[in-house]
Amino acid sequence: MPENLREKMLHEMEHKGIFEQVQNYALAYADTVYGRNVFPNDDAVADLDKFTEVLPRSTGEAKAILKFLNQYGSPATVAQTGGRYFGFVDGGVLPVSLAARIMSDFWDQNAALYDMSPLASKLEEICESWLRELFGLPNKVVAGFVTGSSLAIFCGLAAARYRVFLNNNWDINKKGFYGAPKARIIAGQQAHGTVSKAVALLGFGLDNIEWVDTDSEGRILPSKVPELDENTILILQAGNVCSGSFDPFDEICTKANKAKAWIHIDGAFGLWAAASSNFQHLTRGIEKANSFSLDGHKTLNTPYDNGIVLCDDKEALTHALHASGSYIRKSENRDGMFYTPEMSRRARSIELWAALKYLGKDGVDELVLGFHQRALQFGEELKAEGFQVLNDVVFNQVVVACDTDVLTAQTMQNIQKSGECWAGGAEWNGKVVIRISVCSWVTTESDITHSVRAFVAAREKAMEKY
Ligand SMILES: *Cc1c(COP(=O)(O)O)cnc(C)c1O
Repeated sequence: MPENLREKMLHEMEHKGIFEQVQNYALAYADTVYGRNVFPNDDAVADLDKFTEVLPRSTGEAKAILKFLNQYGSPATVAQTGGRYFGFVDGGVLPVSLAARIMSDFWDQNAALYDMSPLASKLEEICESWLRELFGLPNKVVAGFVTGSSLAIFCGLAAARYRVFLNNNWDINKKGFYGAPKARIIAGQQAHGTVSKAVALLGFGLDNIEWVDTDSEGRILPSKVPELDENTILILQAGNVCSGSFDPFDEICTKANKAKAWIHIDGAFGLWAAASSNFQHLTRGIEKANSFSLDGHKTLNTPYDNGIVLCDDKEALTHALHASGSYIRKSENRDGMFYTPEMSRRARSIELWAALKYLGKDGVDELVLGFHQRALQFGEELKAEGFQVLNDVVFNQVVVACDTDVLTAQTMQNIQKSGECWAGGAEWNGKVVIRISVCSWVTTESDITHSVRAFVAAREKAMEKY
């Protein structure tokens, strides 16, 4: 690196002006995010073209770059940290977790090995044991800290694949699928798309999934679960991405345990029900499962990207995700990379730890209950305005429709354009629907009422057209 570049950057670190600059931008954003357009307006989106340019030849000025980023980047953000974003199951961000994240960004720790970061190793260990306790899982359950549930599902199913084949004296790592004994994959019709992705990535083939029928809430019908055996990987769900429903774990898991099948539970946002005294009835029996995938960045409101795989078979998980090299020295302590597909990794346990330490059991309880209460309120107020609520609001999800598919689709488009709130769409039991996820700590009762008014206005505007 040329001396002048190094000196320039050293000056930036010592002078700290750019960090103060960014801090001012960030704090101003935090002040305005509650009132701004939830989705960027057309001008802000059009201004993104300003980023389109040829790669600079010479080094730039940090201050000017950050000013530019703030000027054109900030207005084009989606106000996820405000109170009226109900899209996907995205969640907001807890202040303490965000602050810890900012501090950890300065530390820039690599969580691969204890030797790279004793701190990251320690906090992974703490989070692992706190999560076990929160969800009521056995002591042998270990955790891997990954980007999100997509990868956590992949990890859980990789561990399952390793174990199920090894039960047949087949080391899948060494021998691969050529000539392998048959393994079965069973999943509910309503399994999340990332389950299919993981199944495909792991080489099982989508055509080999045995799909199980679900009821009108999206729950697996226990009577439709086929005969299970020790060659089976059964994938269940805590929190349907539309209705928020939970598979009937207790009954199905008991049957699966008897048959020695591997059970994976996709609990991206819903597994947090198990941490809340008000919702534990929804997750009864989950402790009988072998692996779990969940997110910190959804229900728990940590910053992105914060996914977790939990597994009761450490050997299977670490062998499935094995990596080696003469320079990789295993320590006496926890080396995080053996629990994840990645080697180098952000120390995301730092902001997860901060969130859990701050909330405690009571805080998690209060957070989850708050989402539920406001989801119920959303549903009730929409019904009073003549919308249809198509699901049983058991957790934080509300599935909404107007009288016709066309009207629903147009209403949703108008809502998204309004900037007042944001909700996405889906198809649910053959109908076009609007999906509402209440999963930010910021959202108040008046945010819900405000949003219901936006729904009504959007429907009126849609009806003018027809
Ligand atoms: C969000 C979600 C996923 C995927 O999680 P990411 O964190 O986005 O990778 C998987 N399953 C369910 C049920 C989800 O809600």
